[in-house]
Amino acid sequence: MRAPLVVASAAVAGFTFGCAVNPVTRRPELAIVSQATELELGTEQARVVAREMGLVADDDLVAYVRQLGERVAASSPRRDVAYAFHVVDVPRPNAFAVPGHVYVTRGLLALMNDEDELAVVLAHEVGHIAARHAVRRLSRALPAGLLTGVVSGVTGIASPVLGSLFEAGGAFATEALMAPYGREQEREADRIGQEIVARAGFDPAALVRVLTSLARYDALADAGERRPGFLDSHPSTPERVRVAAARAFHLGPVTMPASPASADAFLARLDGLVVGSGAARGVFDGTTFLHPVLGFHMRFPPEWKTENTRGWLAAGSPDGRVGVVLTKAAASDDPMDGVRAFEKGLRRPIGGTVARETIGRLPAVRIAAGAEAGGRRFAIELHWIALDGRIFQVTGIAPAGLEAEARPRLRAIAETFGRLGAEERTRIREQRLRLAASKRGESMATFVRRTGTPWEPELVAVVNGLDIGAPIPATRRLKIARSEVYGRADGVDDGSANAEARQCSERIGW
Ligand SMILES: [Zn+2]
Repeated sequence: MRAPLVVASAAVAGFTFGCAVNPVTRRPELAIVSQATELELGTEQARVVAREMGLVADDDLVAYVRQLGERVAASSPRRDVAYAFHVVDVPRPNAFAVPGHVYVTRGLLALMNDEDELAVVLAHEVGHIAARHAVRRLSRALPAGLLTGVVSGVTGIASPVLGSLFEAGGAFATEALMAPYGREQEREADRIGQEIVARAGFDPAALVRVLTSLARYDALADAGERRPGFLDSHPSTPERVRVAAARAFHLGPVTMPASPASADAFLARLDGLVVGSGAARGVFDGTTFLHPVLGFHMRFPPEWKTENTRGWLAAGSPDGRVGVVLTKAAASDDPMDGVRAFEKGLRRPIGGTVARETIGRLPAVRIAAGAEAGGRRFAIELHWIALDGRIFQVTGIAPAGLEAEARPRLRAIAETFGRLGAEERTRIREQRLRLAASKRGESMATFVRRTGTPWEPELVAVVNGLDIGAPIPATRRLKIARSEVYGRADGVDDGSANAEARQCSERIGW
């Protein structure tokens, strides 16, 4: 909840009506937010994005995206802002911008087939910033939309009890950032983006390929996975493709190509990129949750539903009445510091009985307490467990009526927490993007079988911008996914994953 409120209050602080000249249209417009406030908001939102979505830490790849973005931004019609470029740790292909910051997801990178395509996506987002679309969206949304939307969303979804236990707010803030702009704004960003890349020496027709790939990917993706994104906007994709193709023709051939780099060189940069959900935030192996970076495991009853989100792991009984939430509580070796941190958040003592315990040979504290929310009473089982300088909090919750049977059950679940073993670590796998050369005359189905990629032929075709029916171009390097042991660049486990995981643990916000 913290995050959206900060964003909202910063916006309110700068709530001044003034007349400014739009850097793209050059026409005066009623700007509700000054440029200083706009960039301040951008900085605030960038912090939320980094915390809630996480940034990809692959230095070479990130440096490359930044360099390419800077070359694109140098041709932006708006030069009074510094543009920063980031890769967010999100598997779904998408791109978005907040004032001063452009984001592409790692899922979008996996879908790109050459530098021109990536350049035009970055330029489209630069176009949104150049035309101050975020400001216009903010102006439209404030004060009624953004403020009450966020607040009612939080209070509606999380009960007062659960609301104080885990910060659900960030998700709402980032959803809002990724929501599509209006029809005219998307048209404008497409136009500015194509003009920018043409000026910078890239191929403006690449937008046609990007929009087509995104539409094909969306059509393949599970319907339940769909959320507002790059494509979920009016005008429709076919219209955007048609307009983009016509404009690319009108902009004419690029006489000075910006990059002599081949598509092969571009693809080589993507080698090793994590695709799909990744394992850095933990994975389920059956009913056991394994976290390679924080180094713990925890088991849940087989019939329970589970959800692993950045910042917390939640599990609930099939009827949804009994639940457990696992969060990080404090940086310390003393589990009592977890109790103190929790009470500080509550602004009052928890009450109940405090017992020192040992869970999985780790020091722990348990408190059996009660809570009241919305006129209903709940039994709360709280455990704080210390592992490698971190205190983890396991919060069990059940209606007061189920207290007698639920308490022992919640305690038993908390007691499955333990240090991740070496053997368990080797069972943690994730998918990475790799390149594999096709053979002459090979069909997509044969290629998929030969390489053993877990991707379906249709997905391999979409990701590589190929027609599923047509023969694969001979000896072309194609993007595929491979399932590999977590933490090893070559996917082979030699036991060094431990050290590597520890090294990057501070970069992961789980
Ligand atoms: Zn857009």
